[in-house]
Amino acid sequence: MTEFADLAYPDAEALREDERATVLLFPLGATEPHGPHAPLKTDTLISLGICRRAAERLEDDPDVRVLVLPPLAYGVTRYGAAFPGAVSIGEATLRALVVEICGSLAAQGFPRIVLVNSHFEPEQVHTLREAVAELGPAVSLLDLTRRQNAERLTDEFRSGSCHAGRYETSLVLADRPGLVRQERTAALESKMIDMPAAIAAGQTDFIAMGMDRAYCGAPAEATAEEGERTFETLAELLVDLVREVAAC
Ligand SMILES: [Zn+2]
Repeated sequence: MTEFADLAYPDAEALREDERATVLLFPLGATEPHGPHAPLKTDTLISLGICRRAAERLEDDPDVRVLVLPPLAYGVTRYGAAFPGAVSIGEATLRALVVEICGSLAAQGFPRIVLVNSHFEPEQVHTLREAVAELGPAVSLLDLTRRQNAERLTDEFRSGSCHAGRYETSLVLADRPGLVRQERTAALESKMIDMPAAIAAGQTDFIAMGMDRAYCGAPAEATAEEGERTFETLAELLVDLVREVAAC
């Protein structure tokens, strides 16, 4: 069993007696447009996919016990506001949710938590970094925007042209192929847009960035095989971080 909320309370109690260090994985995403072809929950689905793979890898580990928390499917998401389906919360709300949920778990004897985020609007990432700093060393963030992590990921991801493109669409294809509208995907021309540069230049919505259909990158090149390979790399990065948190 790898989902925390699948436990009954005596099982949660037994966890505290476990000799292994318990580390909880907290998947964070967003509900926002991901092109005409991919689901609004793309980011949440990706975070869950990373967490589940890391938990499976560590299932028989002698030192660490890993469980996946219910995901937080809402984030700070304003760039896609022109499209239906963008559901945003503010920075203060996100920070309070993360700090209070982690605080509640710590008070029950589960202080070791890794946040796994796949929604990269700068305000989201910045807020999560602040929450982690407030929570102290037992809580960590798998921050894929950090260079040493991004370097392990695909060319498209590193190019910054990676919203609902080949990178994310491949990950959805690997886990939930039925949620990718294949006919629409095949018809999407590739659209290389350097999102970090556009954001640095002050553009704060998809339309201004030239993403008139809420995507950039090359979704038509996505494959389930690439998605599975990327998930393996992401799970490796997370397992390394789990071991660090377990040791603290
Ligand atoms: Zn996304």
